[in-house]
Amino acid sequence: MSRTVLLIEDNEQNRYLATFLLEKHGYRVVTASDGPAGIELARSLSPDLILLDIQLPKMDGHAVAQALRGVAELRETPLIAVTSYAMIGDRERSLAAGCNGYIEKPINPETFIVEIENFVRTPPPANPSSQ
Ligand code: MN
Repeated sequence: MSRTVLLIEDNEQNRYLATFLLEKHGYRVVTASDGPAGIELARSLSPDLILLDIQLPKMDGHAVAQALRGVAELRETPLIAVTSYAMIGDRERSLAAGCNGYIEKPINPETFIVEIENFVRTPPPANPSSQ
């Protein structure tokens, strides 16, 4: 079963690159270009992971994160902020708003999927003999 990623990102080039990389690795990707549309999609889809740009029109990513965390069914959904390298304060605010972590922009195609998988990977079953 393929995993669904909801990508909330207003920049078309960033949407294109992230979607390309995720689909290439077997994810199903649904995109929204602003916060209200993203929240609506999150509620209807219950995605396995949400990638959230912080600099968005209408509602910034911190407000979007808080709204998503206010929805009971989305409280445990991995929520990853995508923040510009220069915006140091954004990271702490993202975590405070309910994000589980962040990925730096610009997206690095070499490491993007590994970073994503660190957040969606289910812990292996306890089995000492398989170490
Ligand atoms: Mn943006």
